[in-house]
Amino acid sequence: MKNVAYVYHPDYLLHAPPFEHPESPGRLIAINDHLQRVGLLETLSPIAPEYPGDGVILRVHDPEYLRRLEMSCRRGDIFLDTEDTYLNKHSYLIALLSAAGAIAGAEAVATGNADRAFCAVRPPGHHAGRSEGMGFCLLNNAAITARFLQANHGVSKVMIIDWDVHHGNGTQAIFWEDPSVFFFSIHENPAFLYPGTGRRWETGKGEGEGTTLNAPMAPGAGDEEYRQTFEQMLAPAAESFRPEFLVISSGFDAHRDDPMADIQLTGEGFRFLSRFAVELANRYCGGKIVSLLEGGYETESLTHCTEIHIRELQKD
Ligand SMILES: [Zn+2]
Repeated sequence: MKNVAYVYHPDYLLHAPPFEHPESPGRLIAINDHLQRVGLLETLSPIAPEYPGDGVILRVHDPEYLRRLEMSCRRGDIFLDTEDTYLNKHSYLIALLSAAGAIAGAEAVATGNADRAFCAVRPPGHHAGRSEGMGFCLLNNAAITARFLQANHGVSKVMIIDWDVHHGNGTQAIFWEDPSVFFFSIHENPAFLYPGTGRRWETGKGEGEGTTLNAPMAPGAGDEEYRQTFEQMLAPAAESFRPEFLVISSGFDAHRDDPMADIQLTGEGFRFLSRFAVELANRYCGGKIVSLLEGGYETESLTHCTEIHIRELQKD
């Protein structure tokens, strides 16, 4: 069985909405409770990240944005830029700690202390751009992780697989002109769903042309359509890119019971996606995966799919 690190910090619960909101601390409480109840937590290697400086964050984010985020929290603002992206006084530090969790997971895998890592972090990250937070996201954990691996561990080519039901527009924008990070996103068709990007023709620019790949899925699509897309789009992309490390933006809001969207994946669908990622990592990356929690807002499917995903990460 593979040694899978489980990254979590109790302070993740401090970033809490000042009003009713789906992205709440209860998500992580439910995941932890569930993993403990089914006996999975004790089979994982726990990692609690430390608060980072902002140096590694600045490889992705604009320093003025970090100051603005910090000041907004200090001032007691309850929104950042848009009304879906709430703040409380802890949010700046907890966003740093969320990114630090992703980095700690990546570090454990890069150094061989773990074979793979699942990072139960929040706030999520994939909508955050270089200079803006949006869609519940403050700092782009996946992008920061990719840059950390490149800067600190000599990894040259990283592939990010984003299966959150929403398009990872922030991650896409950050690597739009960068051929060293391949961004693959499968999501509900942006004609019907936030944030409205992620069309097939969005493929990158300049040197980065061809290392962005979007698979918008029609509302109602499910396990079979996702399977075909992974086999027909993701597999050949990985074969030609040949990544050295896989980062997964693992949202579970494409589950059929999640209220956010109209994709109909089941737990078995998430098992397939997870197994597929493991096989890609085995083929190209020496098995190395760091998986980061993004969305997932219906407690039962969120916890069940997290369990399924981690169990697949534990397999050879
Ligand atoms: Zn989402």
